[in-house]
Amino acid sequence: MPSTPPDPVEVGIGLGGNVGDPVRSIHAAIEALERRGVIAIRALSSLYRTAPWGGVAQADYANACAIGVTRLEPLALLDAIKTIERDLGRVETVRWGPRVIDIDILFYGDASLEDARLTLPHKEVLRRAFVLTPLAEIAPERVIAGVRVLDAARLLGDEGVTKWEAG
Ligand code: AMP
Repeated sequence: MPSTPPDPVEVGIGLGGNVGDPVRSIHAAIEALERRGVIAIRALSSLYRTAPWGGVAQADYANACAIGVTRLEPLALLDAIKTIERDLGRVETVRWGPRVIDIDILFYGDASLEDARLTLPHKEVLRRAFVLTPLAEIAPERVIAGVRVLDAARLLGDEGVTKWEAG
């Protein structure tokens, strides 16, 4: 008998990149998530420009968030995302160093997980304007770790994160 797939779970993901054409990489990542059946995307935020974090001299980042539903378990979702990052040309460099594409799982339903490879919700989700600003655009009422996304975004402010303008 075929096993019944688990019910779809709503997930939020954060995407960013600053090597090559990061806007194209973000769109390619969204397209790959859909085409490979990893996440059925329901909403994609605008693109934002963020100054680099962590003191490594590098180009500005393009950032966006997406909401969708998945049938994969959390670690299988992480594996699928890591495969897409590699396929889009990401190579591991220094921490906070330049990257073609970074895809983070911001939340997975209301799951709370502390695994060696995966923390849910993402540790930084409520602390980074480049995540909260796009997420507040598409999921303002979402509650993460007891905090409404819109409230967290207003409290933090935009920290210099601006809409991405081409050029
Ligand atoms: P990154 O540099 O953002 O690609 O993340 C490095 C590692 O963080 C990944 O290889 C994951 O094993 C781990 N990680 C822990 N929690 C998360 C999460 N919520 N989403 C994505 N990666 C995570």
